Amino acid sequence: MAKVELKNIEKIYEGNVRAVSNANVVIEDREFVVFVGPSGCGKSTTLRMIAGLEEISSGDLMIDEVLVNNLPPKDRNIAMVFQNYALYPHMSVYENMAFGLRIRKIPNDEIDRRVQDAARILSIQEYLRRKPRALSGGQRQRVAVGRAIVRNPKVFLFDEPLSNLDAKLRVQMRTEIAKLHNRLNATMIYVTHDQVEAMTMGDKIVVMKDGLIQQIGSPLLLYDHPCNRFVAGFIGSPPMNFLEGRLREEDGSLLVEGEGFKFVTADIHRDDLGKAPSPNVIVGIRPEHLRIAGSEEGESILNAHITVIEELGAEAHMYMSRRADDTENLISRVEQRHDYHIGESARFIPDMEHVRYFDADSGRALLGVIGPIRMSSRRSALSQDE
Ligand code: ADP
Repeated sequence: MAKVELKNIEKIYEGNVRAVSNANVVIEDREFVVFVGPSGCGKSTTLRMIAGLEEISSGDLMIDEVLVNNLPPKDRNIAMVFQNYALYPHMSVYENMAFGLRIRKIPNDEIDRRVQDAARILSIQEYLRRKPRALSGGQRQRVAVGRAIVRNPKVFLFDEPLSNLDAKLRVQMRTEIAKLHNRLNATMIYVTHDQVEAMTMGDKIVVMKDGLIQQIGSPLLLYDHPCNRFVAGFIGSPPMNFLEGRLREEDGSLLVEGEGFKFVTADIHRDDLGKAPSPNVIVGIRPEHLRIAGSEEGESILNAHITVIEELGAEAHMYMSRRADDTENLISRVEQRHDYHIGESARFIPDMEHVRYFDADSGRALLGVIGPIRMSSRRSALSQDE
């Protein structure tokens, strides 16, 4: 199998469109890496450069320590699964899977062995004689994956392969691709705009925005220690709550205050936030870290009124606003049964240990960032650009 390395990769399209800037990523042998970000952030371009379908404007693309920038796609030993499956409509499922091997002049008995093996792995043996139009979306997706498997590539590339499937099938195929990864022990690179797919499938996630990699790390590292407000808001559903606040010291404690709240920060001192350019911060609280306060609790309270309650059975999502016009959508994830109603005022209390702080201007995390940004101590995370 294979290790893939992007070193300072850039893509500038005609008309000076800078689609990818300064991309540095190491994809280890057998790793499942997901590139995720909103539409237009450059993730497909990155994948297509790895596949050899798009010229690399500058930088080095290495596969197993060999520079492959100028190697044509067919010589890179990579197989790609596309969003639209790209099956040949006039060929049977069997022929669709065999086709790539035939043009490589692989002997027929070897082709048959590989196609049957892949069909068995994907449970599509009974459809081998059918044409793609006689298959469901999920079955077509399997054929597209089968066509990649038979090639026995060093690296599998997936470009939004599940986005044409309905929600239920998407969840099912998600686990199947994860199982396939375990079974084939292959290096896989997967592109999606769906953060849930990224979180559930990736060993490692690369978050992109505007052609720039924002952060690289395991799903939980990104969830717990987002490097900036964008990553914090992009990863996680329901999303993280953001409150505008100001830092202030009082009686040796560091407080953060804003509309309807005054929190006492947990175990943080002004020095820790010393490089914060101004006292204006964005306070980030995940919905599961904002709970209904008990009547005896009086410190670090957020006052708001409830605007919507979504009962999901195992938990409820309580939407709230601090403003009378309900323009705000703060969310609390409540796991116990409750008897609150829409319109009621409630007191919420954040789990201060898990609260994150971002610089109000730059959006950069002020504490607790680990990952691609080197961090020898908590304080050095404040100087990530230095
Ligand atoms: P994503 O896959 O994240 O949606 P893309 O990699 O497709 O994003 O595109 C990144 C940026 O590059 C976008 O701004 C897009 O408009 C631009 N782009 C993509 N392909 C081309 C092209 N062939 N010519 C010019 N610009 C392109």
